Amino acid sequence: MSLEWLARTGVPWSAAPDVIASRRLDRSGREPPGSPSAVVFPRTVADVQAVLKGAQSTRTALVPRGAGTALTGASAAGDGAVVLDLSGMNRILDIRPADGVAVVEPGVVTADLDRAALAHGLRYAPDPASLELSTIGGNIATNAGGLRCAKYGVTRDAVLGLEVVLAGGELLSTGRATLKGVAGYDLTGLFTGSEGTLGVIVSATLRLRPLPAATATIAAYYPDVEAAAAASVALAEARIQPVLAELLDQATLDAIDPGLRSVGSALLIVQLDGAPGEAATAAALLAEKAVSIRTSEDPEPLLYARRQALPSIERLGRPLIEDIAVPRSRLAEAVRRIGVIAARHDVPICTLAHAGDGNLHPIIVAGSHGSPIPEAAHRAADEIFSLALELGGTVTGEHGVGVLKRRWLAREAGPLSHDLQRQLKAVFDPLGILNPGKAL
Ligand SMILES: Cc1cc2nc3c(=O)[nH]c(=O)nc-3n(C[C@H](O)[C@H](O)[C@H](O)COP(=O)(O)OP(=O)(O)OC[C@H]3O[C@@H](n4cnc5c(N)ncnc54)[C@H](O)[C@@H]3O)c2cc1C
Repeated sequence: MSLEWLARTGVPWSAAPDVIASRRLDRSGREPPGSPSAVVFPRTVADVQAVLKGAQSTRTALVPRGAGTALTGASAAGDGAVVLDLSGMNRILDIRPADGVAVVEPGVVTADLDRAALAHGLRYAPDPASLELSTIGGNIATNAGGLRCAKYGVTRDAVLGLEVVLAGGELLSTGRATLKGVAGYDLTGLFTGSEGTLGVIVSATLRLRPLPAATATIAAYYPDVEAAAAASVALAEARIQPVLAELLDQATLDAIDPGLRSVGSALLIVQLDGAPGEAATAAALLAEKAVSIRTSEDPEPLLYARRQALPSIERLGRPLIEDIAVPRSRLAEAVRRIGVIAARHDVPICTLAHAGDGNLHPIIVAGSHGSPIPEAAHRAADEIFSLALELGGTVTGEHGVGVLKRRWLAREAGPLSHDLQRQLKAVFDPLGILNPGKAL
C-alpha cells in the first residue's frame, strides 16, 4: 500500500525492517498475519490528529502502541497496518499536589510517574507488574490492574479525565480535573479499557494518593491453598482491607524453590497500611491456620518470592499467562479446580492470585520456549475460562481481551451486550480503522 499519505503528514515515520520488526509483536506470543507497513512516531497532539486524518481518508488500519507489553495480542500489528507509537509523547505535564492530580502524556512510563509523585509525598497507585516498562496510555487502554489495586483500585479508579483524538482527527476532552464530578455519560470510563479501538489517548488527568505513613508486610505459609485462600477471606470478613494480598500455590512455590515445600504448600503475602493495630490484628488472624508466619516493615524481603514467581516459571518453559477473576469467596475452589484441569490435560499450571480481588493468573507452562503451543495447553486454557464463568467470574481480570479472548468476550457479555458494544465501536470509528480485530 502506498504510504504517500503518511509522508504528507510531516510526522516522523519509518518502514525500515528492523523498526517494523521491533513493533510488530506484543508480549502475548501471538504472531499476527503479515507485517505492518510502517511505524509512525508522533510527538504532539497535532501529529496524532494529522495521522488519524490521513489514515481515515486512506482507510488504513492504525494500531496504537505504548510499550507493547500487552499479553493478549492487543498491540500486535499485522498486514498493512500502521503502528502509531506513542512512547515518544512521554512528558509529565503537571503535578498539582494540592489537587491530588497529575497531567501526563500517554507515553509516560508508569513507574516514572510514581517516582515523580513520590517527590511530593504522593503516589500513582495502580502498579501493574510491568510498571517499569508499560506506559500510562497502554495502562488506560487496558484498564490495567496490579498488586496494590486490592485497596486503591485499578487504573479506571485513577483516571479523572482524558484527551482523545477520535478516528476523524477531532480532539475530544472527557471527564474533569476534579476528584468528584458526574456531568454527562462517563466517556472517560468508556475509553478506559477500550484497547485502542475507540480513539487515541493523548493526555490523561490522573488521581494521585498520599503515601502511607507506614506499611507492614506479612508472609504466611499454609498447609494447602484452601487454607491460604480462606485466610485472605477471613481478613475481608474482619473488615480488614489489605493494600495487597498475593497468593502463590504449590506449583509456583516449587518453581521458585523446591525447598519451600518443607515450609508450606501455599504462601499468602499481605501488606497493610491502615490504622495502628491493623497489622497486628491481621497477623493474628492469618496465624490461626498458618504453619509459618513473618511480619516485616521492609516489604521487599517478603515480596521476594512473589517477584521471583514469573521469572522462575519462565525457566520451566514457555508461559501462557492467563488472567481470570472470580468472587473472592470462590478463590480456593478456583485454584483447586485449576489443579484438576492441569492433571486432566497433563500440563503444568502454576497459579498466582491477587487474592484481595479474586484475580487469578494460572500460568500454563506450554512446552519449551520457541516450540509450538501444545493443543493440550489450549484445551486447558479453554477449561479455565469456562470455570471462571461457571464460578460467576470473568475471563479477564486485568489483561484485557485483545485478540486471544474475543470469542470468550462474546460468551461472557451475551448477545445483547456484545451487539451494543459493536454499535458503540461503529459510533466512534465508523470505518473501522482503529485497532481492527481487537477487543470485540
Ligand atoms: C511481565 C509482565 C507483567 C505484567 N503485569 C501486569 C499486571 O500486573 N497487571 C496488568 O493489568 N497487566 C500486566 N501486564 C500486561 C501489560 O503490561 C498491560 O496490559 C499494560 O497496561 C500495557 O501497557 P503498554 O504501554 O505496554 O501498552 P501496549 O501493549 O503498547 O498496548 C496495549 C493496548 O493499549 C492500546 N494503547 C496503547 N497506548 C494507547 C493510547 N495512547 N491510546 C489508545 N490506545 C492505546 C494498544 O492499542 C493496545 O490495545 C504485564 C505484562 C508483562 C509483560
